[in-house]
Amino acid sequence: MTDCIFCKIGAGEIPADIVAETEDVIAFRDIAPKAPVHVLVAPKAHAPNVAAAAREMPEVLARMAIVAQQVADAECDGEFRLIFNTGPSAGQTVFHVHGHIMNGGALGWSA
Ligand code: AMP
Repeated sequence: MTDCIFCKIGAGEIPADIVAETEDVIAFRDIAPKAPVHVLVAPKAHAPNVAAAAREMPEVLARMAIVAQQVADAECDGEFRLIFNTGPSAGQTVFHVHGHIMNGGALGWSA
């Protein structure tokens, strides 16, 4: 999508602090972290939310979970939350599916 910030990050058109990347998945640090470890994992192709991604690109969604595990293995002993906010009332502000990989401290924060 032309005006999607995460499409642009996936395409390398705008900078991000990338921590993992595959052919179709990218993981990068959240610009405003809300936990000691706060990395976003997203497909390079556009889908608006996690349910749409499950319908349109289930294999990519599965690979996002694998990349999330790899990030957590490197950053927080392999244990993590993976949060998909869906819809504005649930806190979604970027309408390109992304999981918040979070850990690194006592529970209590949310994405
Ligand atoms: P959500 O509110 O679930 O849609 O999550 C969007 C997240 O993207 C927020 O936690 C923002 O801090 C983060 N974010 C927005 N723009 C960028 C960016 N350019 N690079 C990294 N993270 C970003």
